[in-house]
Amino acid sequence: MTPVIQSKLPDVGTTIFTVMSALATKHNAINLGQGFPDFPMNQELIALVNEAMKKNHNQYVPMQGYMPLRESIAQKAKFLYGSKINPDTQITITPGGTYAIYTALTTVLQPGDEVIVFEPAYDSYIPNVEINGAVPVLINLDFPDYKIDWNKVRQKITPKTRMIMLNSPNNPTGSVLTEHDIAELRSIVTNTKILIQSDEVYEHLVFDNIPHQSILRYPDLMERAFVSFSFGKVYNCTGWKLGYSISSPELMTEFRKVHQFNCFSCHSPSQVALATFLQNKESYLSLAPFMQNKRDYFADMLKQTRFTPLPSYGSYFQCFKYDRISDESDKDFSMRITKEYGVACIPVSAFYKAGTDNKVIRFCFCKKEETLQEAANRLVKL
Ligand code: PMP
Ligand code: GLN
Repeated sequence: MTPVIQSKLPDVGTTIFTVMSALATKHNAINLGQGFPDFPMNQELIALVNEAMKKNHNQYVPMQGYMPLRESIAQKAKFLYGSKINPDTQITITPGGTYAIYTALTTVLQPGDEVIVFEPAYDSYIPNVEINGAVPVLINLDFPDYKIDWNKVRQKITPKTRMIMLNSPNNPTGSVLTEHDIAELRSIVTNTKILIQSDEVYEHLVFDNIPHQSILRYPDLMERAFVSFSFGKVYNCTGWKLGYSISSPELMTEFRKVHQFNCFSCHSPSQVALATFLQNKESYLSLAPFMQNKRDYFADMLKQTRFTPLPSYGSYFQCFKYDRISDESDKDFSMRITKEYGVACIPVSAFYKAGTDNKVIRFCFCKKEETLQEAANRLVKL
């Protein structure tokens, strides 16, 4: 008989992305739910991985990550954000952005610590806090523009506050942080023990010429921050599950203590390939205009439907209200349009612990034009 265990995550089921992708497959629906491109990734990068394998880069790289890749990342951070990052002491390559966040939280959180999480929140954040025995302190982004109300943050700060989790561009809402947000953040954390976990996996997906407010730009904030990234989002290869975290040398020393006994080191040939490919600035600078076109193409076609768009300034998602179509819950609505109309989406209530339902769904637009066109043809019937 299987021994009984006490669940560490008793309130958690299977992620909404897995649920909606399975439903999309079952009903042969166009999957605008889970975020992943349906077009091929860059062929040159594939060739570089191949070459690395043939050149026998098939054994462990150092625990911290392949040094030439860390050097390329540091150069990129300097070019984009003017930041001085030491590749030896401040960067660790991780198996994806999600892992980088989990490791940062596991590195610093003690039972009872409070962590400020803005909702709607990427689905791993709250379970990551809870599994470490810490307490998520939830603050709603203002609906419908999904901005942070910093006065609400001030009210929630206590002597136990240990961390603020940020995500810009934001998944699922596509909202982005501004300079004003950074000033507010600074005024709250300066001279406190509060740390920052900044999830910047969509750093190259900020639209309309808005500058990305990376925490890497701000040396005073970097003293207390982990900033996490994902190559899957930059190079249209979400299945590679490769990313990195950047922090101060002091924080990174502790991060590596956790990382070395979990994953130890990541896939070698892709790191060798990325060390070279990352030096091509065009390879990441071209992403925002490319994806902005897709955002505009899809939003333009959805004008023929009864969906009401909410703005997307970044990420590869756009949220839409459907209250002119139905008064169903967003989960029921999402399931129904997947089954009956053949287009899958994500109900935004899944990003709230209490399941707050503003009748908003998220569509992913990083798809071929023909996919977006066909989805719109189906959605127009609603
Ligand atoms: N954070 C956010 C906000 C994301 O949308 C994603 C993409 N799934 C991740 C982290 C994780 O990226 P990765 O697949 O590299 O773990
Ligand atoms: N980040 C992706 C999304 O938001 C999904 C990642 C996952 O399936 N865990 O759709």
